[in-house]
Amino acid sequence: MSQGRLFCISGPSGAGKGTLVERVLGLVPDAWVSVSATTRKPRVGEVDGVHYFFMTEQEFTETIDEDGFIEWARVHSNFYGTPIAPIREHVAAGDCVLLEIDVQGAFQVRDKIPETTLVFIAPPSMEELEARLRGRGTDAPEVIDQRLQNAQAEIDASHDYDYVIVNDDLDRATAELVSVLQS
Ligand code: 5GP
Repeated sequence: MSQGRLFCISGPSGAGKGTLVERVLGLVPDAWVSVSATTRKPRVGEVDGVHYFFMTEQEFTETIDEDGFIEWARVHSNFYGTPIAPIREHVAAGDCVLLEIDVQGAFQVRDKIPETTLVFIAPPSMEELEARLRGRGTDAPEVIDQRLQNAQAEIDASHDYDYVIVNDDLDRATAELVSVLQS
């Protein structure tokens, strides 16, 4: 898989990856973001095929067996995976391809495609991350506790990333990410 550029964007839930990715899509003309598959239940407002492809565990396992994912991982007790066919297509078209995935998935992608650039979006602090997760009110308290536990492990793994962007100021972090994608 050559041509195009492939970027994995990771970071703890609540670090602001989604907002940053949405912003750069409007600023980098050939940027395209992959839609992942997941066995997690949709949150209010999430649309199948837009935010995720929502699958049963059986559908997910079948897709693994058919080599349909470039990577997959278990995150916060659900399965998540990146469908490989659209990635092939957009990389071949020369697009700037973004995968918003967790650290396990990012390392799998880099093992398969060593030219992949790994970008970690870090929260300003653990306190700020906790405040954001509780403030957005989309998850149950025990789910938030699990996400906070995982966050520290993800931050530790960010030492093996090519870039770490601290999302303390949305405009500055956006500009930094745009410059990484265009470098
Ligand atoms: P959420 O459930 O909040 O949408 O996502 C939870 C975590 O799963 C986030 O860290 C997100 O980056 C990660 N994730 C989303 N899609 C994928 C994927 O396709 N593969 C992997 N490995 N992680 C994913």
